[in-house]
Amino acid sequence: MIDTTSFQGKTAKFYTLGCKLNFSETSTFARTLFDMGVREAQKNEKADICLINTCSVTEIADHKCRQIINRMVRQNPDAFIIVTGCYAQLESEQVAKLKGVDLVLGSNEKADLIQYLSDAWNHLSQEEASGQNIFREPSIHSVKTKDIKKFQPSCSKGNRTRYFLKVQDGCNYFCTYCTIPYARGLSRNPTIASLVAQAEKAALEGGKEIVLTGVNIGDFGRTTGETFLDLVKALDQVNRIKRFRISSLEPDLIDDRLIDYCATSRAFMPHFHIPLQSGSNEVLKLMHRRYDTTLFEHKIKLIKKKMPDAFIGVDVMVGCRGERPENFEECFQFIRSLPISQLHVFPYSERPGTSALSIPYKVDESEKKKRAHQLLRLSDEMTTAFYKQYIGQESEVLFEKAVKGKVMHGFTKNYIRVELPPAQVKEEYDNQIMKVKLGDFNFNKTALKVETI
Ligand code: SF4
Repeated sequence: MIDTTSFQGKTAKFYTLGCKLNFSETSTFARTLFDMGVREAQKNEKADICLINTCSVTEIADHKCRQIINRMVRQNPDAFIIVTGCYAQLESEQVAKLKGVDLVLGSNEKADLIQYLSDAWNHLSQEEASGQNIFREPSIHSVKTKDIKKFQPSCSKGNRTRYFLKVQDGCNYFCTYCTIPYARGLSRNPTIASLVAQAEKAALEGGKEIVLTGVNIGDFGRTTGETFLDLVKALDQVNRIKRFRISSLEPDLIDDRLIDYCATSRAFMPHFHIPLQSGSNEVLKLMHRRYDTTLFEHKIKLIKKKMPDAFIGVDVMVGCRGERPENFEECFQFIRSLPISQLHVFPYSERPGTSALSIPYKVDESEKKKRAHQLLRLSDEMTTAFYKQYIGQESEVLFEKAVKGKVMHGFTKNYIRVELPPAQVKEEYDNQIMKVKLGDFNFNKTALKVETI
């Protein structure tokens, strides 16, 4: 039982780095703290508690984490500083050495963050009350990767209208370039029944759209013996939720039956996000990915056959060890040959402890940049071509927060971003699904202009 008395009226600041999963978890922590009487500090107000949820996906991410922690400490000199997330798990000692850090929690302990905070906070408050000379030593609570077992449930509303429901955590794949399995532990999941209950709760709060998040979502069921398809079918019955999206699925875990089901489902949107990483079989082997280009092509074509309007976003990594110019060229041509709507391009970053470091062939930074630009240009062409097909058509859009005097944004079922001009914006459109006519591109070519009908 947590004693909330000493938290009443305190202020907190939150900073999240990295993926949607981290954002969802931070938002859950924040909500729990607010329920305990804490409020969010204003922009220029000093906070009593600072929580930094870190990422370690690249060297740059590590560097940014250190910068943010230092900045938070500097700007909030008296705050209790908690650091958790992937960087805190992988480099807990380093994090604890940063000036001002009070509590470092690894991925297993993250699930009990509020309890750890409450214990440390109450201890501090008692010392303060007794007038003792307080010397704040950072404490680290973290276990080895193999012992990361806990699952922190999380279903939270992002900044906009969508809810993010965490359905799975961890990964068993150990791709050669990736540290996530070390940072988040092995694949685990809660029961379908508990996830359905969370979706029902989000619906009662007014939620209309839920994005299923996780590290390797398609691997759902390792803990409970259920399957991802079972989960999708069960969530589809939560009638008050009008739209479900799946954040990302490993190609080898996209069951053909899942594609069939989504094609006729009530609420699963024709929208897929699939990590390809490389379109060269040689490189996929070096990465220890569990599919080849033939399987990938089959999944993409099947999705388009069953759902011709589907938006397909694809992750690609450029410049990883072993990616020779001819491999990149093969990758580029492969991607170009497929009906993909958008690319998410990530330059490879060397990560300590990963087996990719033993691959001798290295790509220099300028070449990595060149490859990334080439793919980003292709991505722009693909997205423009995808959007163009729908100009002049009618569609249903879920609108997101209206800001007075500004355009209002929203998404169609198949993830086309739309923009309603300020003159047509009404506050009551917020979180509403409306019929619109899709017009031409906006000025920046980032959305289609629409009018309501
Ligand atoms: S599937 Fe591969 S890239 Fe994705 S989290 Fe697991 S190890 Fe990392």
